[in-house]
Amino acid sequence: MAQAQKITPRAKDFSEWYGDVIANAQLADYSPVRGCMVIRPHGYHIWELMQRALDDMFKATGHRNAYFPLFIPMSFLAKEAEHVEGFAKEVAIVTHTRLRATGKSGADAIAVDPTSALEEPLVVRPTSETIIYAMFAKWIQSYRDLPLLLNQWANVVRWELRTRLFLRTTEFLWQEGHTAHVDEADAEREARTILGVYRRFAEDWMAMPVLTGVKTESERFAGALRTYAIEALMQDNKGLQAGTSHNLGQNFAKAFNVQYQTAAGGLEHVWNTSWGVSTRLIGGLIMTHSDDNGLVAPPRLAPVQVAIVPIWKSEDEKSQVSGVGSQVKSDLEKAGLRVELDLRDTMKPGAKYFEWEGLGVPVRLEIGPRDLASGQVVLARRTGGKTPVPLADVVASVTVALEEIRAGLLKAARDRREQNSVRGIDKARFIDLMKGAGGFAYGGFCGSGTCEAEIKEQTGATIRVLPDPEFRSKETPKTCMWCGKPSVAEAVWAQAY
Ligand SMILES: [Zn+2]
Repeated sequence: MAQAQKITPRAKDFSEWYGDVIANAQLADYSPVRGCMVIRPHGYHIWELMQRALDDMFKATGHRNAYFPLFIPMSFLAKEAEHVEGFAKEVAIVTHTRLRATGKSGADAIAVDPTSALEEPLVVRPTSETIIYAMFAKWIQSYRDLPLLLNQWANVVRWELRTRLFLRTTEFLWQEGHTAHVDEADAEREARTILGVYRRFAEDWMAMPVLTGVKTESERFAGALRTYAIEALMQDNKGLQAGTSHNLGQNFAKAFNVQYQTAAGGLEHVWNTSWGVSTRLIGGLIMTHSDDNGLVAPPRLAPVQVAIVPIWKSEDEKSQVSGVGSQVKSDLEKAGLRVELDLRDTMKPGAKYFEWEGLGVPVRLEIGPRDLASGQVVLARRTGGKTPVPLADVVASVTVALEEIRAGLLKAARDRREQNSVRGIDKARFIDLMKGAGGFAYGGFCGSGTCEAEIKEQTGATIRVLPDPEFRSKETPKTCMWCGKPSVAEAVWAQAY
């Protein structure tokens, strides 16, 4: 159970607030290893719920899970030139396989055994394209083997100097999909299908609205032809890249010699895609919905969806309200809901309410003797509002409330994003916005990497996406909002995590 602690208000210090919400809800903690985090049960439960939902969606779109090794021969990383450049600066390398006793005491009692040096060092996967495509080369012979649609749930390591729980850690959990296709059109369809899956997951499950679109060359995945992303706007008006889907073209197929025999008998390289979302989504969930009282968990991903808090003074009352509480719990569980019945007699009801709020529980049911006398319980929503509901209708009332809360969170987040989006921006306004409130800035882009770099250097903002048609402004910008040259695409800028 959480020990309620003081939460810094968002308006005072957003970053402190974020840390306080995590600590208060016991989602994660810093580990003895710098840069790494420990995911605590309440946080891990959210991840398990995310995994289950995403895994079902991957399987429904024809993917199967597999598992590839944690270690990758160093030479593999070197095979795709852009890829190695993208990851070289953040990989952990295993060079030895043994320790030996030194005969000394204390910390010096063991040392690396120099005779155990590996002939070829191994890198700890920062992502698994290289080892997976080495295997694809073995498994794919003919067009009949395609498409090959795999996913793996795994941990990866990217050495980070700055740690931010869930958002930036050296080791994190994720899924990485890897697929092979006969041609560009099929790979493109796959990359787009997954972008749609990610969007649906973000909106339906996390109640987190996202923009979809394509990344510019400078923000593209190392080794990809095209990178698509879902991007969300957090409550501090910073962007969060929440998931990416890459059309890798034939870059990796050529590097790893993944070829197939065509129906006509020729030999062709396959087209690959890769795509991933990570425990970073939990950071996005926290920063999208939570408030100054702590975590607000969207109902479908809440580890506890309903907390039942019976209220009593005498032992007689206790046995009465807890009996009804048990019955309600069992009815709600039969309806597939995750429920806790809080019978602790060491805490006052008010303190219990406060604690369940901090844990993000969407619905609380208060059951007191007077409520029972009138055949009702009180339904309190984490997002505000208390109403009595008839005991006989409690399952239906809770189910409706959870769905209303989910829809309400999504709408509130979407309204907030739109209120903090500026369209048709010009340079002066852009500079002001990035110095001040932040948010999504829509404007024309000339397509030049130099322009992009200059904007990043002067304002800290990057192009989050060149948005898909449904997110574009009614009026297509004609000139680059920064340099004034002709615009090639509308872009969305933001400072980002
Ligand atoms: Zn420009």
